[in-house]
Amino acid sequence: MSKPRTSKRNGVSRRDFFKGTGAGLLATGLPAGGFAAQTPAPEGKVRFTPRGGLTQISPSLYLLRDTCNVYVLKNGDRAVLIDFGSGHALKLLGQIGVSKVDAILHTHHHRDQAQGDARAVAERIPVHVPAHERHLFEDAENFWRNRRIFHLYYVRNDFFTLTRNVPVAGVLRDYDKCKWGPYEFLIYPTPGHTLGSITLVGTVDGKKVAFSGDLIHSPGKVVNLFELQYQYGSSDGVDFAVFSLSKLRETGSELICPSHGEPFTNPETGVTDLIGKLKGWYESYSPGATLTAENKPFAVTPHLVCAHQTTSSFYALISDSGKALFVDYGSASGSFFGGFNAAAPVSDRMRFVEHTIPELKARYGLKSVDVAMPSHMHDDHLNGFPHLVRHHGAKVWCYENMVDVLEKPRAYNLGCILAEPIKIDRSFRHGEKFRWEEFEFTVAHSPGHTEYQMAMFAEIDGARVAFTGDAFFPAAAGAPYQLRHNLIFRNWVENDSHLKSMQAILDYEPTLVAPGHGKPFLSNKEDLEDLNHRLHKQQDYFRAVIADADCDFGMNPGWARLYPYQLEARAGASAPLELRVRNYRSKPMQMEAALVLPPGWKAAPEVATLTIPAKGDGSAAFTLTIPENWDHSKPRVALAADIVADGQYLGEIAEGVVDVLV
Ligand SMILES: [Zn+2]
Ligand SMILES: [Zn+2]
Ligand SMILES: [Zn+2]
Repeated sequence: MSKPRTSKRNGVSRRDFFKGTGAGLLATGLPAGGFAAQTPAPEGKVRFTPRGGLTQISPSLYLLRDTCNVYVLKNGDRAVLIDFGSGHALKLLGQIGVSKVDAILHTHHHRDQAQGDARAVAERIPVHVPAHERHLFEDAENFWRNRRIFHLYYVRNDFFTLTRNVPVAGVLRDYDKCKWGPYEFLIYPTPGHTLGSITLVGTVDGKKVAFSGDLIHSPGKVVNLFELQYQYGSSDGVDFAVFSLSKLRETGSELICPSHGEPFTNPETGVTDLIGKLKGWYESYSPGATLTAENKPFAVTPHLVCAHQTTSSFYALISDSGKALFVDYGSASGSFFGGFNAAAPVSDRMRFVEHTIPELKARYGLKSVDVAMPSHMHDDHLNGFPHLVRHHGAKVWCYENMVDVLEKPRAYNLGCILAEPIKIDRSFRHGEKFRWEEFEFTVAHSPGHTEYQMAMFAEIDGARVAFTGDAFFPAAAGAPYQLRHNLIFRNWVENDSHLKSMQAILDYEPTLVAPGHGKPFLSNKEDLEDLNHRLHKQQDYFRAVIADADCDFGMNPGWARLYPYQLEARAGASAPLELRVRNYRSKPMQMEAALVLPPGWKAAPEVATLTIPAKGDGSAAFTLTIPENWDHSKPRVALAADIVADGQYLGEIAEGVVDVLV
């Protein structure tokens, strides 16, 4: 094969020469109103600029129609830009007396909003982005390395992500305030057009203004429908958009500043019109499906309210004082949970959007959320807890074995862990009783669905209520029995786990069961006994099918595990790491373990020796040292523990990951 020839002419290679010419030709071919050409441009520089200049909307607010609308908010000789387009705005700001841009605030991560960000970074302008899209700016190149294109069923248009990483100076967190000069904006989560989109709402020149990104294009219109489909064939994004538009309407904004289209007043009409149209399409395309915005809680008894259309059911026990105790509080709906879950980056939590609380206040006398208790440690049941703590001042109480999981989520590799740590204010032992307001509770350990689950019992308005989490659910219509359970081995399950949870519930003799999914139902002792009987039989299957006579070794992938599972440590520093073991044998287990590490890393001791008591737990402590000169292009590495147990070489049966911090 012959090498492509590059003849140099005046220091410009043939390839570069044609590149420049090509760009010029392409640009002149664009229709009127397109972009003017700048020729030729070096690699990475822009070749086009938008036609037209800054338009003044009100004394301090300007607009440039770039690849998206770029809003310039002015304060003296300084400005903040909302979205950035190609970055051409920087060249025009002198015309309106702006000499410094303090920040760029992005409503979402699409290229047309942010394709010029490298220009801002070059001029040291801080770029602030929605918290839940941070990775799509600063880790965009990693996104592209991992975005699946073959077998495409996750059809969400995250393909409109930037092609290069953009360093992020700060994040815009949902429900926080963003202050600059005399301005204060509230950051509203408004998913739809993208999953992490935000709307900034604040007062500008005496008017309440909403910078709403691409949530709405103009009265009654969206910029496109293809951004509103994430899962194959679904109408999930339409559901999200209707929810967010309803929230936008509630903000009472007087002027909507969209990313495409014209700023418009009288949003009540324009937004309501769009909600109506999207609802019409949703209902005709997905007959029978409910919109998240239309989910409604209902009163089970005078003091107990249930929301069952949320991702997991949650319960608000509302005292006569107006204080509430929540049992669980997950995502707004199954579609919200699924949509955000699929989009959550590896090292972050999925997005949570507040729901139901306004209805509880308006219709059920809720004044404050005093306490929140998780039935178990799964994110679909407690995704909203950090929000309740941060924005409602709620305290979090839980069963004792959940404390460490919730406070140190990186330490465990179990199903459905929420990435954000939750500080626990109070914990309870098995059998412990406590009083909250006018109610008495009893807490019981209720393993099976997960080791980290409680059952909680209370007498409420004359009913003996059992909050049972995911211990069991009503069976589907047509099943030969009334109750079913589910089993996830990654959640820490042993052969008799479910039997323990059933016993505690049978002992209480509830009249009403409040499960973690679905509506509460009247308890029937026969059905509980029937499930209990089937759970005893289930044990026989485990014993029959698992090779090891101590069958729990074949049920619990975490019997030998590293703690923490996702360690964070600095290059050049040491960090503790533990091997933890549950011994399911009826005699003590002798173990030798050595860590298998990346090149240059060290562990002390090199080999640990431990004895784990019969039917008990043991651990060995290691100190890990990461070399100072670790290559930071490898920010996350895996390591393993190589293990010999009772003379048998089992190999690298336990593992973990380390995030190496700079
Ligand atoms: Zn967009
Ligand atoms: Zn659940
Ligand atoms: Zn669960």
